Amino acid sequence: MSNPKLTEAPLEGTSPYELRVDLSKDLPESLVKKALEVGDIGFIHSFTTGSAVDGPGIRLVAWTAGCQFRCLYCHNPDTWNMMNGMAVPIDRAIAELSRYAHGLKVMSGGFTLSGGEPLMQDRFAARLLTAAKSMGIHTALDTNGFLGERLSDHELEQIDVVLLDIKAWDPESHKHLVGKDVRPTLNFARRLAERGRTIWLRYVLVPGLSDHESDIDQLAAFAAGLGNVQRVDVLPFHQMGRHKWEKLGINYTLDKVSPPAAELVDRVCRQFRAAGLKAH
Ligand code: SF4
Repeated sequence: MSNPKLTEAPLEGTSPYELRVDLSKDLPESLVKKALEVGDIGFIHSFTTGSAVDGPGIRLVAWTAGCQFRCLYCHNPDTWNMMNGMAVPIDRAIAELSRYAHGLKVMSGGFTLSGGEPLMQDRFAARLLTAAKSMGIHTALDTNGFLGERLSDHELEQIDVVLLDIKAWDPESHKHLVGKDVRPTLNFARRLAERGRTIWLRYVLVPGLSDHESDIDQLAAFAAGLGNVQRVDVLPFHQMGRHKWEKLGINYTLDKVSPPAAELVDRVCRQFRAAGLKAH
């Protein structure tokens, strides 16, 4: 390998819950800048196989490092910093994909690019998804949508399904929960609808933070009105990422919040269904 700082470590991780830090911290700034401009290198937490929850069928998932949100419930805060990921040349990432291409097709599965936020590295994301598509692999992008405008219409066509995380409907709640404006995400949802691209909507349900009945009704009406939301996944908040906050020395504020009761999850699913959506 021409640059000794690029990773030669195995790309496959046992789980995205493994804590990974500073794996690319010594990379020259010029190399990082070029990587972001052209996508010849990606910053990746890990590849994992066998996921059945990140798109249709069994998936190979690449978890990218780097995120501009600061969700209070984030279960992978080590992925906030791009330099915590492994620096992986695009050719190596594509070679990793090709190892699984046949199996993924046989299992009616595919490849999902998740994170962190993959569009922090939009050139790398576009190149990797395009490569997967050209191998005949079903493609999914799991994104908070904030940087959706970075993808061209042609690049959107390389993505079979966008797993769009809408964190909250109310602008104030959204700002409180993630630290950023909700409008870019909603605009991206509208653009995907205009381009006829399929969305699976993901909604993390946190008691007291994202369970307000009228907000969910409004989000459900918005999503149903788009016409391209194939399903809604209501994801119950959990405490599985808490140890990472502690290890990274970041103040975690949800330690007293319990996962939502089954009745609350049911109620929220029913709200999405009442708007005409499939919700799980
Ligand atoms: S968008 Fe995802 S990775 Fe980013 S802070 Fe939120 S939960 Fe964490």
